[in-house]
Amino acid sequence: MHRSEITVDLGALRRNVRTLLRAAGDAQLWAVVKANAYGHGMVDVAGAALGAGASGLCVATIPEGLALRDEFRVQRILVLGPASSSREVAHARAAGLELAIADEEIPEGVRVHLKLETGMNRYGLSELPAPPAEVVGLMTHLATADTDPEFARAQLERFESMTRMHSQLERHAANSAATLRLPEARYDAVRCGVAIYGLSPFNTDPTDDGLEPVLSWQSFLAHVKQLQPGESTGYGRRYVAEEPTWIGIVPVGYGDGFRRDLTGTEVRVGGELCPVVGTISMDSFAVGLDRELPVGTPVVLLGHGILAENHARAAGTINYELTCGVETGPLRARRTVIDA
Ligand SMILES: *Cc1c(COP(=O)(O)O)cnc(C)c1O
Repeated sequence: MHRSEITVDLGALRRNVRTLLRAAGDAQLWAVVKANAYGHGMVDVAGAALGAGASGLCVATIPEGLALRDEFRVQRILVLGPASSSREVAHARAAGLELAIADEEIPEGVRVHLKLETGMNRYGLSELPAPPAEVVGLMTHLATADTDPEFARAQLERFESMTRMHSQLERHAANSAATLRLPEARYDAVRCGVAIYGLSPFNTDPTDDGLEPVLSWQSFLAHVKQLQPGESTGYGRRYVAEEPTWIGIVPVGYGDGFRRDLTGTEVRVGGELCPVVGTISMDSFAVGLDRELPVGTPVVLLGHGILAENHARAAGTINYELTCGVETGPLRARRTVIDA
């Protein structure tokens, strides 16, 4: 077994896309594949999402959009974030990317979605100018679709009143959480990221919303030993055995994206849930075992019931940040794409 085995299940991804398409009603679904598809692999995910019925793709940067364009010649690709130079805009124009624009200066010769300020206060126009011909869409982004539906509804009301006169343009506002919980956010298209990966936008169990995690991550016990009372494992001696205690060493660490603040979370060793103990190193961490287990015993870090949501809770973050951080490059991991 490789020290860090990452499996991306495109079958699960397709099923999630179909679940979201049902939730989206008549709206189109645009698959958000920024940040290497939240760590899952941008091109693989984009192809599967389109195959399952997504009508377009969203990324954060023009370079991401250009990389997608190399693979998908005709599909719509919307860049959600700002351009960093006029050179980038020229590349976007040549590649037929669509751009979300949040200021008065609207580039020519490229399809534009105007981003409106309704409460996120990140990027966005507070007033809608008379839209020039370049403008094909009007959009906004919700700050609290996952946590505060009242505030989200207030944002949507603001969006509605700013855009009512322009309903011939494509209007879009929903992220994954809004697609699942706020039917009034659907408009013409929904922009779904986290949920297509089978991650819960609410940081609860994704199966509650009919979603299946797409990413699984496995390693194995590279070493097993018994600590005597008073002996510790790892940097800083943050875990000290009080009685004779079996521990296993897993050859994955924060250099692989198994973050240092995951101490205390649970992974599955053989069939059993075991706690991560002591300080997580760059290339390894320790698990507490209730008995001696053989070297080579598989360790599930994510997937097969080990939820990114639980790890996120232990680390004080969100599932998005965890999967974005998983190192999938060939120098650290073996990544396999399946279609089950
Ligand atoms: C990232 C992003 C999304 C996707 O959000 P999820 O919560 O992952 O579904 C949608 N819209 C915009 C503008 C984004 O930046």
